[in-house]
Amino acid sequence: MKKVLILEDEENIRSFVVINLKRAGYEAIEAGTGMEALDKLRENPDIHVAILDIMLPDIDGFEVCRRIRANNKHMGIIMLTARTQEMDKITGLMTGADDYVTKPFSPAELTARIDALYRRIGGDTTVDPELLKQGPFVMNTRNHTLEKSGNRVRLTQVEYAILKLFMLNPGRALSREDILSSVWGREYEGELKIVDVNIRRLRIKIEDDTTNPTYITTVWGYGYKWGA
Ligand code: CA
Repeated sequence: MKKVLILEDEENIRSFVVINLKRAGYEAIEAGTGMEALDKLRENPDIHVAILDIMLPDIDGFEVCRRIRANNKHMGIIMLTARTQEMDKITGLMTGADDYVTKPFSPAELTARIDALYRRIGGDTTVDPELLKQGPFVMNTRNHTLEKSGNRVRLTQVEYAILKLFMLNPGRALSREDILSSVWGREYEGELKIVDVNIRRLRIKIEDDTTNPTYITTVWGYGYKWGA
């Protein structure tokens, strides 16, 4: 059974999530503190998606996210944010989270996000070419790695999925809606700025000069275009 870590110190919210994860066919691994969550992840290397609350009794959810990312680029990470804290979303994404869900959330919304992350990890590689080579970039779709001029570029799952979409559509302007529905799934109802935040991060990793991007160019009022 697919395992999902739920880190949340409020027991009623945690048990609400656990019940709904089980109903959706996932095994829930629970943690009430940041340190406990990191221990559980070490004990269960087969957990591929983690849901992280931000306000916790010990280290906060952003720090947990950073520590997970320090040695695991492929973990799907969803932050639980409070409605009033708009900045949490951006901070979460900048520390390496893939997605966020705002409290109060519906069980269907949360499981849709988890399903989308698991689908990306499972990634249907049978229909894709194994190696995508464009300009200085080589993407290996089997092991989800990217090299630029022979040097490995470490990408999160979301960044990888966006770049793969670009590399499969060279020279084509993709709208932010296209990117959102392709990468996050059609049922995703999040905001378009999540696309921009991820593009910004991706540019930092792959562009020669982020102030003058040449691989991912902006199509004003529409979206982005790939060329390498
Ligand atoms: Ca909390």
